[in-house]
Amino acid sequence: MKRMQFAKEPSGFFVRVKCEGCGNEQIIFSCATRALKCLGCDQVLAEPGPGKISLRSRPTETF
Ligand SMILES: [Zn+2]
Repeated sequence: MKRMQFAKEPSGFFVRVKCEGCGNEQIIFSCATRALKCLGCDQVLAEPGPGKISLRSRPTETF
């Protein structure tokens, strides 16, 4: 059985953002290629930008 491949994007990182609409915290990946919405209220938290995503709200943690 083959193992799944991880970490193909070494420049990527994860950020935790807090939704300004409902307060839900969500972890998103910096190299996401499409807009990411809040799971709680469907508000757009981040959109894909040149090279990396641009956040709509301030990240609370980066790792
Ligand atoms: Zn929300």
